[in-house]
Amino acid sequence: MRADSLWRAVLGVEKTVVEDVVFDRVGLVVVVSVRPVARERGRCGRCRRRCSGYDLGRGERRRWRGLDLGVVRLFVEAESVRVACPEHGVVVAHVPWARHDAGHTRMFDDQVAWLATQTSKTAVTQLMRISWRTVGAIVKRVCADVDAARDRLDGLARVGIDEVSYRKGQQYLTVVVDHNSGDLVWAQPGRDAATVARFFDALGPDRAEALTHVSADGASWITGVVAKQAPQAVLCADPFHLVSWATKCLDEVRRETWNIARRAAGGTRQIGDLAGGRYHASRGDAQTIARSRWALWKNPEDLTTKQTAQLAWIATSSPRLHRAYLLKEGLRHVFKLGGTDGKHALQRWLTWVQRCRIDVFVELGRRIKRHLPAIHASLDHGLTNARVEAVNTKIRLITRTAYGFKDPQALIALAMLTLGGYRPPLPGRN
Ligand SMILES: [Zn+2]
Repeated sequence: MRADSLWRAVLGVEKTVVEDVVFDRVGLVVVVSVRPVARERGRCGRCRRRCSGYDLGRGERRRWRGLDLGVVRLFVEAESVRVACPEHGVVVAHVPWARHDAGHTRMFDDQVAWLATQTSKTAVTQLMRISWRTVGAIVKRVCADVDAARDRLDGLARVGIDEVSYRKGQQYLTVVVDHNSGDLVWAQPGRDAATVARFFDALGPDRAEALTHVSADGASWITGVVAKQAPQAVLCADPFHLVSWATKCLDEVRRETWNIARRAAGGTRQIGDLAGGRYHASRGDAQTIARSRWALWKNPEDLTTKQTAQLAWIATSSPRLHRAYLLKEGLRHVFKLGGTDGKHALQRWLTWVQRCRIDVFVELGRRIKRHLPAIHASLDHGLTNARVEAVNTKIRLITRTAYGFKDPQALIALAMLTLGGYRPPLPGRN
């Protein structure tokens, strides 16, 4: 085998001439000098149209980082050619081994994108020897390639529109999920009617008309735009949000119960005296309540033995808190059932909540009643909680992983690659 074809296989490129290979055995670096074959030269980096040459950049040769050869780092080096495109002006010329404006080879990008959707932040950055910020730039490039090849908004019928907080201080994304496939199909920064309108702009009037159901949390900034842009679609309440309202109420009751236990004799213990302020830790009942937070929040099927025991303890020692827990679970059950059974269960739940003698839940009952038509629609049309909750949970998990991307578009790209139904394959393996 000729060395040229070996190096082309290593770089994962065709249409490339290998000019030279230099190995620095001290720095453990291989530099492969290349040039595109004649018919790949002089093309615009953005549209690949053949154009007239402009110059050689600043005259310096350009380098792209490639996949490591074992522990040896690999760079591809070539002339930095610029061309004058009639449409795009003076741009860097297209090269077969890398995406436009990238500092890494196509294979390197693809492997980083695959890792970013599969493993931890630390694993990607350490294995590939790049910063998390660079990972952000790479997932954006790879996601743009996926988007150029397919339209995620085709064939939508039942969608959910939701907001996700991605950074402290009121920074939100508006996200759209396809209820049929469970895929994330659209996301942009912002939480207002204008952002929802941008989704409908991208969708266009024909595809907006094809929407049959739209679920949302009832916020008017979403429902107002939907009613205008897709008046035929049935507005459904998003079960995920209704259950999260109940979880919030439960947490309020838990805090009240904890405060009462804490203030009771022996409920706290002083643990220090710092800068004039005294610090206390919960003891006894107060401590058990403080520690039972997860048991109360988690779905019963996910409870550990210890958490089951904590719940049993709450049932006997704090009947009011336990009642609040059952109310939250009852509402979850309504959406688990769905359909007519769900509606009947909801009716029983509303009667129960009315006389539960816990103010926050009585108020929740009133709030649920106000959204009744949308809730019935979601029960009728099978928008059960499981899938919506699963996608929501995953999006929130990714936003936490992506914390540190300064650019929300990098976060969106990572979420799209992970949850958009087109996960990037490993290079060379389809
Ligand atoms: Zn061009």
